[in-house]
Amino acid sequence: MLVVMKAHATEEQVRLVCEKIEKLGYRPHAMPGATRTAIGITGNSGVFEHGTLEEMPGVQEVIKVSKPYKLVSRDLKEDNTIIRFTATEATIGGQGLAVVAGPCAIESRDQAFAVAGRVVRAGAQFFRGGAYKPRTSPYSFQGLGEEALQIMAEIRQRYGIKIITEAIDNESLDLVEEYADMIQIGARNMQNFSLLKRAGRSKKPVLLKRGMSATLEEFLMAAEYILSEGNYNVALCERGVRTFADHTRNTLDLSVVPAVQRLSHLPILVDPSHGTGKRNKVTPLSRAAVAVGADGLMVEVHNKPDEAMSDGPQSLFPDQFDELMGQVRQIAAVVGRTVPGIGVKNSFAMI
Ligand code: PEP
Ligand code: MN
Repeated sequence: MLVVMKAHATEEQVRLVCEKIEKLGYRPHAMPGATRTAIGITGNSGVFEHGTLEEMPGVQEVIKVSKPYKLVSRDLKEDNTIIRFTATEATIGGQGLAVVAGPCAIESRDQAFAVAGRVVRAGAQFFRGGAYKPRTSPYSFQGLGEEALQIMAEIRQRYGIKIITEAIDNESLDLVEEYADMIQIGARNMQNFSLLKRAGRSKKPVLLKRGMSATLEEFLMAAEYILSEGNYNVALCERGVRTFADHTRNTLDLSVVPAVQRLSHLPILVDPSHGTGKRNKVTPLSRAAVAVGADGLMVEVHNKPDEAMSDGPQSLFPDQFDELMGQVRQIAAVVGRTVPGIGVKNSFAMI
């Protein structure tokens, strides 16, 4: 159910409608838009009697939302969600493209700083690096845990770049939330509903990656879990799905970008690294992702890919990332977007 407020409805009228919804035993989600505020109503207890709301001052109409996802839907919020961060010009979902780059995993302080220095110089505004790695084999490198989070916090301090890193369970989410600027939920956890709900109770924005065999509806419903708990700062990330094709690690589904943008107000990034698994395909598909209208990219970069403890074959050398950024800037201009810097602190750090 969705309450559409009149264009000139006051904040007090919005507050009173929200209060009424709560009294009826449901949860209100007020989403201010450029022209009007809409209030999503969630709760899972039976039929909703909406006659009372329709009569309240400031209410334009009460609409039944027929799609299974409600809060992520453009029916509720027409304008694109823009995720903002403190002390930086970089956003996710705004006019500027968001570029997230860094190694698959943080392996050591030296490795992390070597990669961070290069990706900052090339213009990435977000640094990624796994502290907790969801590996197929229990014998593979599982990540440095909190030590990696501390290294990334130092990188933010030094360069002003924002940190995105994955939480794999509730325990790691507690720590990731403390150290990082954005919490990543990986493909393997896209339908870990208790983790999604925990992320939904966080104050930090969430980057939700598409499950490797998730349909568009399942992907949006996973995001809905996070919003339903009150965290509206969610970005989606396409990272390839599993198909019969075996010339790449996954099949990067770029068609999901306009499909998401039609149905949802949430931003969507593309990860051509996991999406292809092959270094030589990362730059071409980054160009394509920007051309198709993605709100940003997530790219794995390593200072010594041949020695990487995970995902070396898909990690770019820093020089290749420089080249990628140059090409992406040109394509961005064609689709009316820019690649903004990370702001004052970065220019200071670069001196
Ligand atoms: C990652 O980004 O580090 C990662 C593990 O990706 P995915 O969850 O998409 O496999
Ligand atoms: Mn990886």
